[in-house]
Amino acid sequence: MAQKTFKSGVAAPELKNQTRGDTIKNAAVPRRVILPLKEGPGDPAQPLVKKKDQVKAGQLIAEAQGDWGLPVRASISGRVEGIVDIRTAAGQMGQGIAIAAEENSEEMEKMEPLRGEISSLDPETICKRVQEAGILGMGGAGFPTHVKLKPPPDVKIDTVIINGAECEPYLTCDEKVMESQPQEIVSGLQILMKALGAEKGIVGIKAHKKKAIELVREAAQDLPAIEVVALVDKYPMGAEKMLIDALTGRRVPRGGLPFHVGVAVNNIQTAIAVKEAVRDGIPLIQRVITVTGSGVKNPGDWRIYIGTPVEEVINQAGGLKDNAAKIVAGGPMMGQALHTSDVPLGRGDTAILVMTREEAHLPRERACIRCARCVDHCPIFLNPISLANYSEQELIEGMERLKIDDCIECGTCSFICPAKKPLVQNIILGKGIVQNARRSNGGSG
Ligand code: SF4
Ligand code: SF4
Repeated sequence: MAQKTFKSGVAAPELKNQTRGDTIKNAAVPRRVILPLKEGPGDPAQPLVKKKDQVKAGQLIAEAQGDWGLPVRASISGRVEGIVDIRTAAGQMGQGIAIAAEENSEEMEKMEPLRGEISSLDPETICKRVQEAGILGMGGAGFPTHVKLKPPPDVKIDTVIINGAECEPYLTCDEKVMESQPQEIVSGLQILMKALGAEKGIVGIKAHKKKAIELVREAAQDLPAIEVVALVDKYPMGAEKMLIDALTGRRVPRGGLPFHVGVAVNNIQTAIAVKEAVRDGIPLIQRVITVTGSGVKNPGDWRIYIGTPVEEVINQAGGLKDNAAKIVAGGPMMGQALHTSDVPLGRGDTAILVMTREEAHLPRERACIRCARCVDHCPIFLNPISLANYSEQELIEGMERLKIDDCIECGTCSFICPAKKPLVQNIILGKGIVQNARRSNGGSG
């Protein structure tokens, strides 16, 4: 099978065996959910409910604000406990709507499905529906999908890519979804292509996910505009810029976005959410996540209700083992360590990884041996060690000159460094320093 790739990157360990081979399990309705009012870069949604109100799963409970805003829909039926201060698993501070579950309520409030052939659907109507359903990038980036469907008027999108790379070690939720819902993925892609007026659709899947490739190919076999392409097993293949390079040979310019090269990229589960919103009227209130790591008793892929606290998801997976030491939201390369498991999971959260003391042990940092491996493997062709040094010294001009904003925070440099230097961590801190300096200078950032 021919495989496509990009330059640089690393062969990161897969570590997916703990959850591979099993089917997706449906999580029980949680006792309580907390739905963040803000997910992604848009303004927080405006609550439409108050304490003690009765709500139904799927009901609109907070209205989207501004062009980039997303609405919030109740993921379970129950009674509103109130608007509470929260920190999400993705680390965003803000407020959320807490709902206590009601027993024996499986009913869902749906939207009216958009009927007719996909080719007859109006792009504007699709875009509006995607926003109404509260869909954002479900691969972790959390960018509002309806914004991707409205590129600037002078931009022509000719290709829609569905990202099935799932390159973070441990994660298998997208692979399972590809194996269980290939037809929905292809329908979602067709709808996205229609919304953007794109002639070509590509589903990029890592070559080792053989069953997923076979099933999605089968689902698309009568559609000549859609191609399913095998990708080399390399990290960070799932980063948008790398994926576009591998699949189309186009390079997104520095500081640019995929639309600058005529491409839109969406995650596997986002494509399904689009299909369900448009064809079935189902809002985004559930998603599949991987719960894994040696510190959890029964690792697996779970269809959870958005807003379920991490603690409850872990309990559904059998609970923590005695040697559990660290909980990470997301994968080991780009995930965030959690200080508490009392945080809700949002629409963009992909995984809960529970590490043991041995796995979480950080090797001692040593002096840089100037091997340049970090430079050679950076997929964006940056100079990680210089950026990290400038960050430690707070040298803003140096960080800007070396294009710190272009870093995609993939962690490849830290992973490959033989001296175990916390390069990406320092670069992320450096980005914050640069942005603060721009703000205090009145710059646009
Ligand atoms: S500098 Fe940024 S983009 Fe380059 S390898 Fe490190 S984290 Fe990835
Ligand atoms: S990979 Fe590590 S040791 Fe090698 S140059 Fe970069 S920071 Fe130094």
